[in-house]
Amino acid sequence: MQSKDSEKSISISCPACGLLCDDLRLVSASPIKLNISCTKGVAFFEYTLNAAPRQPSVAGQATDLNTAIQAAVTILKQSQTPLFAGLGTEVQGMRAILQLANKTGATLDHMHSEGMIRNTLALQNSGWQNTTLTEVKNRATVIFAIGTDIVSSHPRFFEKLVWNSESLFNKPRPEVIYLAVDEKNTTAGISPEGKKPWIIPAEIKQLPEIMNVLNALLNQKNPLHKKTPDALICGIAVATLLALLEKLKSAQYVVVVWAAGNFKFSQAELTVQSIIQLIAKINETTRIAGLPLNAGDGDVSVNNTSTWLSGYPIRSRHVKLGDANPENINQNQQLEYDPHHFSCQQQLKNSDALIWISTFNAQLPPNCSLPTIVIGHPSLQFERMPDVFIPVGVPGIDHAGTQFRMDNVVALPLKKLRQSDLPSLSQVIQLLTDELP
Ligand code: SF4
Repeated sequence: MQSKDSEKSISISCPACGLLCDDLRLVSASPIKLNISCTKGVAFFEYTLNAAPRQPSVAGQATDLNTAIQAAVTILKQSQTPLFAGLGTEVQGMRAILQLANKTGATLDHMHSEGMIRNTLALQNSGWQNTTLTEVKNRATVIFAIGTDIVSSHPRFFEKLVWNSESLFNKPRPEVIYLAVDEKNTTAGISPEGKKPWIIPAEIKQLPEIMNVLNALLNQKNPLHKKTPDALICGIAVATLLALLEKLKSAQYVVVVWAAGNFKFSQAELTVQSIIQLIAKINETTRIAGLPLNAGDGDVSVNNTSTWLSGYPIRSRHVKLGDANPENINQNQQLEYDPHHFSCQQQLKNSDALIWISTFNAQLPPNCSLPTIVIGHPSLQFERMPDVFIPVGVPGIDHAGTQFRMDNVVALPLKKLRQSDLPSLSQVIQLLTDELP
């Protein structure tokens, strides 16, 4: 029999991380009461639902939406090289942004693209063999987490996908292996029966060497042939690395998890590539697949929408016809792609106006002297007010939307949970687009 609470509750998807859990029920909005205890999810809804009402502003003075739109249009009309960055939005918001980018010749970069680009570069170079959340839930027998405890960014990963009691196939509880993860953050990897994970201590910055040695040992091109099994590589015994390879090769279905955003060292895309190579080689004899974690703020949705509508992922520039550099332009003569040169940090030096977008969270724009338009979360608090600020609704709370899960294959609807006076990002971008020639 249903409880009174569950009769009144609304079923929702949570956009606070890439798992996009769709088993949530909002029991009450004030005070916020969800049927789950995920701290990150609860904080996301609480933060927005408790946000004070906010008005647009121009030069720090509160104003109405129309005046703010006109001020933003003036900045865009004077700009030759606008930068649209942050891009914290869902599919609908990104569709609108692409239209405005086409009209203004804007360069696009997402706030979390530094990590995303590491994966994209490796993917472009060699392809990859990745899996889905459903496959993890139904088939994984080993979870191999490299440089991430997983739950800091994706809190219910183990609860929903690893320690789940239901799966389509009869399989043992997955074993969990952590490499280069702080031991105090590994308790989520202890099974419900109390089985502890295998922890291989190392520093994240040592991963390039460790992954290279693992690949060398796997391919029997042993650069360590003169060393004994007791010899240490980055503090790890060679015998431990060999035992790890044996475990991966003998398992029924290994899922290798990494968060490229954590790889904060030079040429980190090569480490992602080493992980991909390890997966490809072991896949010749058993089943193993990758699962890159996303960073959030709509990064997967923005990248996918950009790719299917323009042919290129994020860090692209929409070139106004007539301005194109014939050496860099793609076939449709309207787009350039450069994952290094078109980063927000680089383009702040080359652009003459910035639109910063952050609708899911109150992420602040970078410090810069460019004329700045901020379109974003109503809770944004600035040290220095931007030239124009337009607060907009939060997808999944103030208006409906669509969001991609971190595994790229499933898009889920986000629901409108309350009446809001705030426009959506797509509506604001459409108003700007309509006002421009
Ligand atoms: S795990 Fe992620 S998607 Fe699921 S409830 Fe927590 S924050 Fe939301």
